[in-house]
Amino acid sequence: MERELQEIISSVKFYLELERESGMQELFAKESQKPAAKGSSRSGAPDELEALKKEVLQCARCDLSRTRSNVVFGSGNAKAALMFVGEAPGRDEDIQGQPFVGRAGQLLTKIIEAMGLKREDVYIANILKCRPPENRAPLPEEILACWENIARQIEIIKPTVICTLGKFASQTLLRTETPISALRGNFHEYNGIKVMPTFHPAYLLRNPGEKKLVWDDMQKIMRDL
Ligand code: URA
Repeated sequence: MERELQEIISSVKFYLELERESGMQELFAKESQKPAAKGSSRSGAPDELEALKKEVLQCARCDLSRTRSNVVFGSGNAKAALMFVGEAPGRDEDIQGQPFVGRAGQLLTKIIEAMGLKREDVYIANILKCRPPENRAPLPEEILACWENIARQIEIIKPTVICTLGKFASQTLLRTETPISALRGNFHEYNGIKVMPTFHPAYLLRNPGEKKLVWDDMQKIMRDL
């Protein structure tokens, strides 16, 4: 009962927060209701992740290393129960060296907060660590060159659930060509870890009517954390 009430409160907050973007300003109540989901007790994870980061910051395995301003390694809790995986850094991320800090990132932050979590509770990374010029789609050789990085991040963090954001991240991690519209809404598996594909926040900015489906996916994740 308490759980159902919690989900209703979170749903209402999510909508109000998202609505606020389109002008409804003052209704949103800020405080999170849900305690931060506990991640694994892997005490070595922060050091391992830091060591990997040092390596990746020097990476020159593909041509994106020549055009990037910054490597965008990932950010958040090294022991997170929930990990989000996106496609590749965009312009803002390339400038700041942090994942999901542009408009799509702000929407992702709202989704995380509507789940009763903070960005620092989860881990956020991308399949590619460097920005493709003009935000073009990642090339097969870039995915191949960068794959080991996200694979090692997942191995170190060992999240309970991975939420893949959009077609590219979902299809790459799950090694499938199934469309995102068919993948989303159901749990899949990567190396024994549950994976929930959902729509990319950038897609939601263009198609706000699909937010309800993303919220359905987030509720499924919340039940599993
Ligand atoms: N889109 C992504 O997939 N990743 C980012 O970090 C930003 C936008």
